[in-house]
Amino acid sequence: MLSCREVARLLSESVDRKLGLWQRIHLRLHLAMCRLCSGFRRDLLRFERLVREAAPPGPPEQTPPEPPYSPPAEPLPREARDRIVRRLRERL
Ligand SMILES: [Zn+2]
Repeated sequence: MLSCREVARLLSESVDRKLGLWQRIHLRLHLAMCRLCSGFRRDLLRFERLVREAAPPGPPEQTPPEPPYSPPAEPLPREARDRIVRRLRERL
């Protein structure tokens, strides 16, 4: 089973890229059993949503948002993402 640290890393990576099948399976297994990581994932998704909602209005999205591991339509700058992930990790 993945460690909580590995899960946090994968959840953070899932913001930038689609994870492989086995990574997603291991992640779901861990999330089903670990309240801490489930909470981290929930906070991460909530934060992503808030950031998207706070973004200035732009042209309508071409495709509907995909749950829950797809990156946002317009990703944040790397530096901002790192800062957000660091803050969320501090809460674990
Ligand atoms: Zn965990």
